[in-house]
Amino acid sequence: MSARIDEVRGWVAAAKRIVVLTGAGISTESGIPDFRGPNGLWTRDPEAEKLSDIRYYVADPDVRRKAWQKRLSNPAWTAQPNPGHEAIVELERRGKLHALITQNIDGLHQRAGSSTERVIEVHGTMHSVLCWDCGWRGPMLPTLDRVRSGEPDPACAECGGILKSATILFGEGLAPGVMERAMAAALEADLFLAVGSTLQVYPVAGVVPAAKSAGARVVIVNADETQFDRLADAVLREPIGKALPAMIGSR
Ligand code: NAD
Ligand code: ZN
Repeated sequence: MSARIDEVRGWVAAAKRIVVLTGAGISTESGIPDFRGPNGLWTRDPEAEKLSDIRYYVADPDVRRKAWQKRLSNPAWTAQPNPGHEAIVELERRGKLHALITQNIDGLHQRAGSSTERVIEVHGTMHSVLCWDCGWRGPMLPTLDRVRSGEPDPACAECGGILKSATILFGEGLAPGVMERAMAAALEADLFLAVGSTLQVYPVAGVVPAAKSAGARVVIVNADETQFDRLADAVLREPIGKALPAMIGSR
């Protein structure tokens, strides 16, 4: 590993309030493709972006049927956490993790052992389903069973409305209070790690310069360049599953 990682390891050892922001890149080594990486879903199939837009989802039953089929075969249902997720659990075990802000919807941080109170899921979770019309919310698996048993676009059992996963699609606002929590945590960080994200999606990406302005050291771990590489104290391009355990000393 590079000298850079040794230096970052020293920062991790000295830090007391680490805030980690993760994106899809931390889960690619668990077999879940990202959107914008070289092998990303949208890089390979730009049409797929429609399935992630609430305007198309609500207006077009065909988009919903495709979205449900995609959900059935999502690799995230059987994916296991990798050493990147585990390294963040280790930070918490050492009492250094102030907050874990994630753009991911796959639930792998919690499955790895990160505690629910510390994980801020800014884009929601694919493990729940909700009704766009009446707000009913429940676990995802029973609804997936309905799709499997022949309902291509299952309706809400309460009101007949449109069901969707409890994730934030393009065109939707974030859940109330979530962004405020993420920002408050970022402003309190002494070390901020941005991991596996292109940092293009707002308002979440804004926590990176905010943390820096508030005095945190910023480390970016991502294979591709990001717009904030220039303000970072270190940028690591190594695979996350190697870089995080090396920085944190969890392996
Ligand atoms: P993104 O797809 O825009 O970017 C991921 C970045 O991670 C890319 O720059 C890629 O080069 C990098 N990367 C991928 N694997 C890596 C590895 N092993 N080591 C180092 N770098 C690696 O991801 P994003 O910024 O999170 O935005 C996508 C949005 O889509 C998110 O908001 C999220 O809600 C959603 N999403 C979630 C999942 C998931 O839950 N696992 C998967 C795909 C998309
Ligand atoms: Zn309903």
